Amino acid sequence: MEIVRSIMSQYGFVESDQKEKADIVLLMTCSIRDGAEKKVWNQLKLIRSNSVNKRQIVGVLGCMAERVRHDLLEKRNLVNIVAGPDSYRDLPRLVAVASGGSNAINVQLSLDETYADVQPIRVDAESRTAFISIMRGCDNMCTYCVVPFTRGRERSRPIDSIVEEVRRLRDQGYKQITLLGQNVNSYRDMTSMDFPMNPSTTEDRVPGFKTVYKPKSGGLTFTSLLEKVADAAPDVRFRFTSPHPKDFPMQLIEFIASRTNLCKQLHLPAQSGDDETLDRMGRGYSRDLYLRLVDDIRIILPNVSLTSDFIAGFCGETEEAHQNTLSLIREVGYSFCFVFPYSMRGKTRAHHRLTDDVPENVKARRHLDSTTVFREEAMKLNQKLIGTEQTVLLEGKSKRDVAFSHGRTDGGVKAVFDNSKSQLNPGQYAKVLITEANSQTLKAEFIRETDL
Ligand code: SF4
Repeated sequence: MEIVRSIMSQYGFVESDQKEKADIVLLMTCSIRDGAEKKVWNQLKLIRSNSVNKRQIVGVLGCMAERVRHDLLEKRNLVNIVAGPDSYRDLPRLVAVASGGSNAINVQLSLDETYADVQPIRVDAESRTAFISIMRGCDNMCTYCVVPFTRGRERSRPIDSIVEEVRRLRDQGYKQITLLGQNVNSYRDMTSMDFPMNPSTTEDRVPGFKTVYKPKSGGLTFTSLLEKVADAAPDVRFRFTSPHPKDFPMQLIEFIASRTNLCKQLHLPAQSGDDETLDRMGRGYSRDLYLRLVDDIRIILPNVSLTSDFIAGFCGETEEAHQNTLSLIREVGYSFCFVFPYSMRGKTRAHHRLTDDVPENVKARRHLDSTTVFREEAMKLNQKLIGTEQTVLLEGKSKRDVAFSHGRTDGGVKAVFDNSKSQLNPGQYAKVLITEANSQTLKAEFIRETDL
């Protein structure tokens, strides 16, 4: 949405806070689950019924525009503009077409659009945190996932444009930057002339993990990018999401271990702990390979905080398969998991080849089981932190008691402490002693202000 804001403002459009009167209403959409799309349909009906501007133009942007383009324009008569994720530069023209009374559509996916030159990025000025998009699209073709169809092929922004943005944010006082991409650690800058001479630095995959595409070579990998951003802003914490486990070669893990400003928090989406389910999902690894990767990572990063994604009730998932997922969650011990009941999406390989045969009530129960188990393990992990000193980056004041501030540990866990004497501001680092813990939050005592 920041990209859209930037493009529209360059063409003289001004943001309104009165949706009912606005000349143009643009909705950014997600297609990843059926529930997300249902919300958009409801919003569209509300926008039309509440509008007091008879000439109001309504546009649907993003993945849903890509996926259900004709439905949006033809069947429901609620929408004037449909713009896919790679066509935001075309929005001013689409608005002009729609102003003339015609419907306007551009859902062309691109092989090279990264919006590298479009500023700004997503920022939260209050908490001094920012998000930078570094790559778009995905080549993995997991069978349940609509992203390769709505976002297109993988392409990465040139390193130099990312480093420039990092420097700008650092100069503006931002202290945490999250690098974003659909498959973020598959990043590969193919535009750079600065190719590494040592071929081992181009190694980008964990041995044994399979892909549906041929091995990629050349260019600068995610490790090179991390090196450049970590050097460009040594007092800024970096996180990244969302990665794929196959793209965590040990060289990358060793590099993360070597820098204090690269957070020791890794998202390692497993999706399932069952081999047959993983195979049907087309994830390219077995439970055993995944667990070996976790072990290897923990040898290099003993205090790493791992998070994950799981799908409950994927096509053909038996009760035994579900139990295998629960045992994986227990075995790994994640500090957080995103768990979603499976939602079949059109166009995906699962839609063509598999049957959505797990009843909704069973999906809901398995969803709850997985959430319960991950929370139990997260509680144990957080309680192990009691008595340890942690460096917390302050993000804001507690809503319940303004004397207290909250921030995140290096591992990404929320920590709350009494800041009434120290009076630190968001963007400052505090050394704290952890005194209490539940599955989501740590309570702490302030020790001193610190550098990263
Ligand atoms: S790696 Fe992620 S974005 Fe890509 S197809 Fe698989 S689930 Fe979708």
